[in-house]
Amino acid sequence: MEIKNRYKGSMLGLAVGDALGAPVEFTTKDSFEKIEHYRRGGKFNVEIGEYTDDTSLALCLAQSLIDRNGSDQKDQLSKYLKWFEEGYMSANGRSIGCGKVTLRALYRYMSQDCSECGNSRLTKGAGNGSLMRIAPVALFYANDMKLAMKMAKESSLTTHGLPICSDACIYMTGLIVGAIEGKSKDELLSVDYAKTLFDYVENYTFHEEVVALAQGDYKNKSRDEIEAKGYVINTLESALWAFYNTSTFDDGLILVVNLGNDADTVGAVYGQLAGAYYGDDAIAIEYKDGLMKREFIEELAEKLLRGSL
Ligand code: MG
Ligand code: MG
Repeated sequence: MEIKNRYKGSMLGLAVGDALGAPVEFTTKDSFEKIEHYRRGGKFNVEIGEYTDDTSLALCLAQSLIDRNGSDQKDQLSKYLKWFEEGYMSANGRSIGCGKVTLRALYRYMSQDCSECGNSRLTKGAGNGSLMRIAPVALFYANDMKLAMKMAKESSLTTHGLPICSDACIYMTGLIVGAIEGKSKDELLSVDYAKTLFDYVENYTFHEEVVALAQGDYKNKSRDEIEAKGYVINTLESALWAFYNTSTFDDGLILVVNLGNDADTVGAVYGQLAGAYYGDDAIAIEYKDGLMKREFIEELAEKLLRGSL
């Protein structure tokens, strides 16, 4: 497969997952009619193919990496703020779905001009808000795993101060880079590969819950045992569980968004990894054609590829 397909697959996969899950975000599993197509409605009353904060913030991050030719935390934050205030990088001009942890960081950025505005003492701060937007970092730095992981942590710290959040971002980045390199699913989700990734970061102990997740207990869990909550570990587990248990992009996508709860975000996290793995051709035409700003997202993916070379 051409590498370009993996880049487009990752960015489109993220957006498609977000837009497909958005109408059933904040619902309980099995309390809604099964999602297989784009739908209107939900808490933010989305239109067909309208994506939310997850994709918008990922697009902000992608644009920042391109504009600054690398990681610049304040530029990332300034673009997130521009999204929140002006709808920059939104699907149709409105900034919908901003999480509490990100919002607090943006207020802090406004008043303190900080570059790492995530609060490391925040209880309930272990949300999925930095994980959901991480793909652009993996794509931009895909040629240098160690640097990719370092920049994933930097990106997470702009809004999320807890190590569990940055460690989830680092692990996810390693998975996406491995998918770009063409590794098999068995290898990507293996304990050995996780250990290889963790060993890239010297003199550092990863958060025990991230390490435990990478051991793959989710592989033995039933659907009843998977909860697509906003807690970063639940989100990553849901995405990996769906990726592990299916063999096409669309099957995994439908499985993960129908968990309800933080459906758009588990869709986005699943989509960025599965899209890099299967490539953009594997995403149903219906999902790609129905997605708002599809061409713009594809262009950004191609710019990330050019920036990575
Ligand atoms: Mg959202
Ligand atoms: Mg969400």
